[in-house]
Amino acid sequence: MHTLRLAALSAGLKAKKFSSAELTRGFLQRIAAHDKQLNAFVTVAEESALKQANAADARLAKGQAVALTGVPLAQKDIFCTQGVKTTCGSKMLANFIAPYSATVVQRCDDAGMVMLGKTNMDEFAMGSSNETSYFGPVRNPYDLNAVPGGSSGGSAAAVAARLAPIATGTDTGGSIRQPAALCNLTGLKPTYGRVSRYGMIAFASSLDQGGPMARSAEDVALLMNVIAGFDSNDSTSVDTPVPDYTADLTKSLAGLRIGIPKEFFGQGLDTKVEQVIRDALKQYERLGAKIKEISLPNSGLSVPTYYVVAPAECSSNLSRFDGVRYGYRCDQPVDLVDLYKRSRGEGFGAEVKRRIMIGTYALSSGYYDAYYLKAQKLRRLISDDFKNAYKEIDVIMGPTSPTVAFNLGEKTDDPVTMYLSDIYTIAVNLAGIPGMSIPVGFVGQRPVGLQLMGNYFDEARLLNIAHQYQQATDWHLRAPKGFE
Ligand code: GLN
Repeated sequence: MHTLRLAALSAGLKAKKFSSAELTRGFLQRIAAHDKQLNAFVTVAEESALKQANAADARLAKGQAVALTGVPLAQKDIFCTQGVKTTCGSKMLANFIAPYSATVVQRCDDAGMVMLGKTNMDEFAMGSSNETSYFGPVRNPYDLNAVPGGSSGGSAAAVAARLAPIATGTDTGGSIRQPAALCNLTGLKPTYGRVSRYGMIAFASSLDQGGPMARSAEDVALLMNVIAGFDSNDSTSVDTPVPDYTADLTKSLAGLRIGIPKEFFGQGLDTKVEQVIRDALKQYERLGAKIKEISLPNSGLSVPTYYVVAPAECSSNLSRFDGVRYGYRCDQPVDLVDLYKRSRGEGFGAEVKRRIMIGTYALSSGYYDAYYLKAQKLRRLISDDFKNAYKEIDVIMGPTSPTVAFNLGEKTDDPVTMYLSDIYTIAVNLAGIPGMSIPVGFVGQRPVGLQLMGNYFDEARLLNIAHQYQQATDWHLRAPKGFE
């Protein structure tokens, strides 16, 4: 059953070929058997999962099921879950139990989905390799010496290894798309405002967006139907109608105009990765698309812009972890300043501290104009590049990541090299447009992802473009050895 994708799981449950309880036990057994190798889960929610599965079975029996009732999933440990620990990959929240569930989690619960557990992640979603987690690194099921990508590395490894049929991730600068690429998955970062951020622990609020990580575009569409939509609890949530994301999957791509930004094929792109990407583009031509070279002239500024904006917002967001209200508190503080200093000093890891310091510096009086304000202006230029491009093309394509998965430990001593892992994904977050990564091949045993970037609220179109490719190819069906 662990090999089935969402549509087949849903049909099997409705036809009573298996129950949700059987399905859930099956996945829990796979997690027990394989997760020692991968470390994809911080928490396995066995008890509550079986409760949810039984409730789903009752709902199925009464004929009150909706599309994904009884289907298991894993939630990234950045989403608050009432009654189940939410750590955000940090010592700061190692024992935190949220008093309420995130809207994304609540919507999955309301649909009758079964939460298997919470997945490992870079601390507060800061990282590209899942190595900054307080709970240890995650391994890539395609090669246990390699990282799974980050920050949603646990979700990526869990779905790739068939320990969960689907998972959620969050993407501030690439954290859904890059791990999806490195683990042969299909991941979607929706338009900013499409999926509620309520109860999703904030890293950089103007960039953060949650979305699905799955084994096919169809699966992503099915979960988007559950989680997308307006939420009055999130002031940046957008109140526009939500389409049925499965409705357009089978539309023909004849005449589709694809833009290829020349800046995404320059220095730094691994030549073998480039070859795989170029082959995927040829497949799109065979499907009837027309390819045109375009320019996103300011995209080279996206990494430096992001590393001012994201740390600035994180320094403000993470000030709430003060040892007073919730989270880690140091032992026997002598006074209030000591309480703040040691709780934060002992509770946060090195990468989080680095970001807080950069952000505080960039926002401080005298530097604000030179760094933060300047970065905001660049952000506008980067967004305008996309707006101009979409006047003459429908979708932009390029590599998701400049390389395949790198080895564990390879970049941990060099933050700037690590930051460059997101060189092709970050501009999408700065502009707020939707982006996807889909599996298009391998270099050796390590997967390569193609990135699709759409105009605002064009998720349905991106899913159609991804699905048509997946109807013509079988890269997304490949499973890692030992986890088939
Ligand atoms: N790797 C990027 C960072 O470290 C993006 C992380 C993310 O998208 N959450 O900030």
